Amino acid sequence: SSEIFDVLVIGGGISGLSAGNYLFDHNVKNFLILEARDRVGGRTCTIDYNQHAVDVGGAYVGPFQNRILRLAREFNVRTYRVHYKGKNTLTLSDGRRSVYKGIIPTSVGIFSLLDVNYILCRTQELCEQISNQAPWSNEALSAKYDKMTVEDWLQTLGETEEAKELYRSAARTILCVEPSEASMLAWLSTVNNGLGIMRLCEVENGAQERKFRGGSQQISNHLRAKLGTDRVLLNHAVKQVQWSPTGELVKVTCANNQEYTCRHLIIALAPSLYKTIEFEPELPEKKREATERMYMGSIIKTITIYDRPYWKEKNFSGITFDTSHVANPVIFTYDDSFEEDRFYAIMGFIVADSSRQWSKMTREERRQAVCKQYARAFDCNDMITGCQEYIEQDWSAEKFSGGCYADIMPKEVLSSLREQLWVPCGNNGQLVFAGTELATRFSGYMDGAVQAGERAAFEILTKYLKVNGEHLSLTWVDEEPVDPREECRSPDITKLMYGPSKIEMLLPKASTVKTLLKVASLALVGLTAVFI
Ligand code: FAD
Repeated sequence: SSEIFDVLVIGGGISGLSAGNYLFDHNVKNFLILEARDRVGGRTCTIDYNQHAVDVGGAYVGPFQNRILRLAREFNVRTYRVHYKGKNTLTLSDGRRSVYKGIIPTSVGIFSLLDVNYILCRTQELCEQISNQAPWSNEALSAKYDKMTVEDWLQTLGETEEAKELYRSAARTILCVEPSEASMLAWLSTVNNGLGIMRLCEVENGAQERKFRGGSQQISNHLRAKLGTDRVLLNHAVKQVQWSPTGELVKVTCANNQEYTCRHLIIALAPSLYKTIEFEPELPEKKREATERMYMGSIIKTITIYDRPYWKEKNFSGITFDTSHVANPVIFTYDDSFEEDRFYAIMGFIVADSSRQWSKMTREERRQAVCKQYARAFDCNDMITGCQEYIEQDWSAEKFSGGCYADIMPKEVLSSLREQLWVPCGNNGQLVFAGTELATRFSGYMDGAVQAGERAAFEILTKYLKVNGEHLSLTWVDEEPVDPREECRSPDITKLMYGPSKIEMLLPKASTVKTLLKVASLALVGLTAVFI
């Protein structure tokens, strides 16, 4: 095409489409979105099972995810609550199984429980010392914690092994890598911009409170319909970008040999995917470092469908937490049922090393292992015999995602890349970057994808692209307001950060209690001796 576009966008995921949507809503319509797959939505993907929408990618939303919720409302996509009431089950690596209620597995001993609380509280305290926009700005803290992995940090704590095992598994579930892979600073940053460790883990009031009726991919489908199917081209994998830091135009070539020219290119991909595109000249050093050193987590998302909700009939919530690591495939489950469709299912995540190991097996071997695991967890053989269908999606096998949920940072990446990850390339914003990884709120989530996409378009409109001879004068709204009609309103809507409570913060760790008990018993023995 000989046309010169104001903006081209690489990637028709939520982020790229949100960038396009922001341009569209501000009357800039000379843009094109190039999507490699034969569908939009990227890391969100909804498939049909007997006329019920099943999300095999990103699915859950919760309070304060106001950008993705705003889009959902615009397209009349409603949410529903994830079922979580009832008994949860915990399986530890030594095979012990127990039943508990609430988010913290209270079925472990009191000392482990105190230590879990202690580790969560220390995490929250550290989070509060780092900035969302610039996690490296506290130099001393960032230097210290970017030099260690999450596992290294756990090793510095003297707490009980059981508490550490639980914490490791929570980190695996959130990052999809082993705690020994991720930088502690990057982990703190993830927790921080996810609004606290409890917000990330909880169902009610947390990031898993709801799902979209009809599935999350609808939002991308609606965006494509709104922007125009001729502005969002499928099967257009970009293979080469020719640009110049001082030149005016950027030329993009797709694998199907189509070529397009633009003034500004938004790259709405995870940084680890930049290296799949040939840039001429190469990207600046720090971007290259990002694409070489950041990598995607590993996850196989499974949905096991039943003829009846056997677990619910036995008063289980459908939540199982399994810290046995690779021994049992699934680390964490939620009830994935949708009563109105008479659809009964358990969603289970196979993550990190477990995903890497279990992906070597056949689908049938995984199905059998998952059903057996559920039969043990819910103490119910119907979880094997009543299984009607097993759906799975291995995101590491997806060429245009490379894994999920998002890119992670190993040690010494975040403090080294600093703001360079966000900074556009060229003297006039020739290359601008988006994708959920670049969000400062709910990075790694659908909501973060919207934020980063809108931010990229905002930068172009206010700094680089002139509309009728001038830049648009817009104000960036960092804190997206909550719509009063919002279904997904937090009961504690005034409290943004959701970490452990003040009382939990004050609770001692196990070793302190043990020492106190020892001192008290010695004192008692002493007193008894005196009086006898
Ligand atoms: P992507 O969706 O990755 O979009 C990038 C797009 O670029 C893709 O469509 C891709 O096909 C395309 N592309 C790649 N290379 C090229 C190329 N060379 N040329 C052209 N196009 C290209 N988030 C939540 O909020 N809640 C959840 O519960 C949740 N759970 C998840 C569970 C799983 C199993 C997975 C996989 C993800 C989950 N996420 C969740 C994360 C969420 O889905 C992502 O954060 C979000 O969808 C990312 O959007 P994005 O636009 O930034 O990136």
